[in-house]
Amino acid sequence: MNWTIVLLRGARLPAMGIAVALVIMWAAWNMRGTPHGAAFFEPFRWASLALLTFALVAYGYFMHRLLRWERTQGDQGCVRCGGPTGVLQTGRLIRGNQLSDFRRCYSCGKTSPDA
Ligand SMILES: [Zn+2]
Repeated sequence: MNWTIVLLRGARLPAMGIAVALVIMWAAWNMRGTPHGAAFFEPFRWASLALLTFALVAYGYFMHRLLRWERTQGDQGCVRCGGPTGVLQTGRLIRGNQLSDFRRCYSCGKTSPDA
């Protein structure tokens, strides 16, 4: 199991949220002295904190799912490599055939049908 890949795949959404929140905070801090900057960033005042909170909650949920997988309490792992899988995604409808719902493996990237 490559844990670097698992972390990169599982924590990419929280990492992007934290990065965007930090960029907004940095820009607002740098432009706080100018009248245009202060007026422009007024609506984003709480947006960066809300985004940061959302990212931390999303990261906590990812860690919660990893711990449940480690204790074999959650969903069964990947059918190919046994690695931890992501959130449930609905299967596509192809020419009238409904494909089964699936979870994508954080380790190998392949899909596993939901049991
Ligand atoms: Zn896998």
